[in-house]
Amino acid sequence: MAGFSQRMLALGTASSEIREAFAFAQQRIAQVGPQNVEDFSLGNPSVPAPQAVRDAALALFQDLDPVRLHGYTPAQGDAAVRAALAADLNRRFHTNYSGDALYLTCGAAGALCCVLSALGCPGDEFLTFAPYFPEYQVFVESAEGTLVPVPARLEDFQMDLEALAQAITPKTKAVLINTPNNPTGVVYPQEDLRRLGLLLQARSAAYGHTIYLISDEPYREICFAAPPAWVPDCYPHTIVCYSYSKSLSLPGQRLGYILIPPELEDASLLYAAVCGAGRALGYVCAPSLFQFVVAKCAGITADLQLYKENRDLLLHGLREMGYSCAQPDGAFYLFPRTPEADARAFCARARALDLILVPGDSFGCGGHVRISYCVPPEQIQRALPKFRQLV
Ligand code: PLP
Repeated sequence: MAGFSQRMLALGTASSEIREAFAFAQQRIAQVGPQNVEDFSLGNPSVPAPQAVRDAALALFQDLDPVRLHGYTPAQGDAAVRAALAADLNRRFHTNYSGDALYLTCGAAGALCCVLSALGCPGDEFLTFAPYFPEYQVFVESAEGTLVPVPARLEDFQMDLEALAQAITPKTKAVLINTPNNPTGVVYPQEDLRRLGLLLQARSAAYGHTIYLISDEPYREICFAAPPAWVPDCYPHTIVCYSYSKSLSLPGQRLGYILIPPELEDASLLYAAVCGAGRALGYVCAPSLFQFVVAKCAGITADLQLYKENRDLLLHGLREMGYSCAQPDGAFYLFPRTPEADARAFCARARALDLILVPGDSFGCGGHVRISYCVPPEQIQRALPKFRQLV
């Protein structure tokens, strides 16, 4: 047995079901051609980054001193960039943050890893609603915590606050939510987030320690109904993890941030612990070129309308065929129920038609399948007859 970390070895050798499905799709595309395979596995944005990103990057190359452009920034990110991003949040959400509330990092993944490591002590429990983004398990365990999935309401995939109330214990360090949601596309209404805030307030008081709320928001701007609530308005002890991967279609540039609002209990200590986690994990000095780019593009998004068109096309088509699917008002995922109880068996039947999907089991919720519809609309048109054949 090699003298490596067995945990890391296991994580590195067993790829996720999402990655495996994507690799299978690539293999089939090589064999039968891209027009014959419909791959709905990955959440890789299909709309290009906006022109403003390109313009900002080109201007930076022309105008900024290359030593500054490519140099290390302070560990938590360039001060002027953080101030610009805080000003944008203040404009949009009527808040009063300074740049010192922000820590820039590598996407939402880097943000979550830093926050969980900063909060996590051995034995801590982190609660999340299932289905959930599978990497939560990996991130929480790396922070020496335990992930406790709480089933969402099966009929609509909204938060089940009664079930959450049952699951909270004195060991609960934080609740981790994701709205708009991957994999369901569901958006949590403001009233429910307020009720969640009241629940956490009451249980924090009962246990004599703050239960934090971690709001993982890479899909904040991809919302087709009313704009999503600003979660810190619903509970003051909220830590926001944000990413430009989806809103600006920049997943490869690895940029996001952690927001620790000053109203949060022990905000400055937690900020220091996040800096410590960044240092320990190596998430310091987020990619400098794209720090400057996102500051110039604050408030801009990619053309997200395409996702709504895809959602409408696919949701309408599937419902007409008899698939049952919770109302997906955001992100770019559908999570319909599978005709048979065994979602993996359904995905295997789909694969036989070169339709590539991910079973809900991967997200902690069997009997469903995730369809990642950030794809060209023609792919959805080609896939619909295959979905019909499967049902
Ligand atoms: N959280 C959720 C719910 C996601 O879906 C993703 C990526 O798909 C991430 C976090 C990680 O995003 P990033 O690319 O910004 O690291």
